[in-house]
Amino acid sequence: MRGVTFLGDRKLQLAEFPDPAPGPHDVVVAIKASGMCGSDLKFYRAGGETASLGLGKVSGPIIAGHEPCGVVAAVGSAVDDGIARVGARVMVHHYSGCGTCRHCQTGWSQMCVEGSTVYGVTGHGAHAPLMKVPAHTLVALPDELSFATGAAISCGTGTAYQALRRLNLAGGDTIAVIGQGPVGLSATQLAAAMGARVIALDVGGERLQRAKEFGADALIDPNADDAVAAIKALTRGAGADVTLDTSGAAAGRLVALRATRAWGTACLVGEGGNVTIDVSPDMLRKQLTVIGSWTFSKVVQADCARFVADRKIDVEHLFTHRWRLAEAAEAYRVFDRQTAGKGVFLI
Ligand SMILES: [Zn+2]
Ligand SMILES: [Zn+2]
Repeated sequence: MRGVTFLGDRKLQLAEFPDPAPGPHDVVVAIKASGMCGSDLKFYRAGGETASLGLGKVSGPIIAGHEPCGVVAAVGSAVDDGIARVGARVMVHHYSGCGTCRHCQTGWSQMCVEGSTVYGVTGHGAHAPLMKVPAHTLVALPDELSFATGAAISCGTGTAYQALRRLNLAGGDTIAVIGQGPVGLSATQLAAAMGARVIALDVGGERLQRAKEFGADALIDPNADDAVAAIKALTRGAGADVTLDTSGAAAGRLVALRATRAWGTACLVGEGGNVTIDVSPDMLRKQLTVIGSWTFSKVVQADCARFVADRKIDVEHLFTHRWRLAEAAEAYRVFDRQTAGKGVFLI
């Protein structure tokens, strides 16, 4: 089979790999949809930036793609029928750890004390027709959800969902979501579905218009307006109850911290980089809580899928581009511009 590998410096290739066969505790998933995530761009662009993601050194050639969704095609000899059977529609929780430490046992295998495999980064991912994973990484895909929806939930949308859970978002809250890329737009969509009032921020007019379609109540372009002042103006001077930075940019993070009301909570979910804050005014004087959120547990991935199915949320609308694997070079060129929406490979 052929799989997409990143060569660095915005180059990729479709390389030949042997079709995987399952070990005793593995399954092979026939991939139907494999999403493109913002963090893939860091590996696509490569350079020193990848080190700041803290996922260890990337050694190639590794098949990219960490939003896997498909159908179980082969099951290892030691895998119980209740865990996986051929033909089941599945997502993959795209990490695997030791299986026995506290983090692994609670579904947070990305935090494994022994270090974890990150599929699509340090283990072969889903930008290929077949993907071998341990059977315990599978998460059932509800019948109502498309494979593309399952792919989105497998990283971007799931990450947004977990961040909103970390924030204890309530229907009465006003949330400012900074950055309307795939994770930010998902946060806007999910937060609106949870009943919150959403203020969406992005420097791209196209992305702001999409945020409106996804349920944003108010739109702010920080290039055109003072974002903190604009959020305060929309909240009777108080600031948003909670804020979520998905941009990963220092300026975006500062807006999140400064536009949160007294006793409020700011959550940082955008990867990499740094930020410098003026601790007393930005944090202490307003009793601010700042939390970090990194993806989601296997349990929360299942919760997110159920929420999306029950509320009939149109996650698939996130995808502005649908590609074949053979079009990978063009797909990443388009995604790299970060002006359009999210892309997905349909296989
Ligand atoms: Zn991701
Ligand atoms: Zn572990």
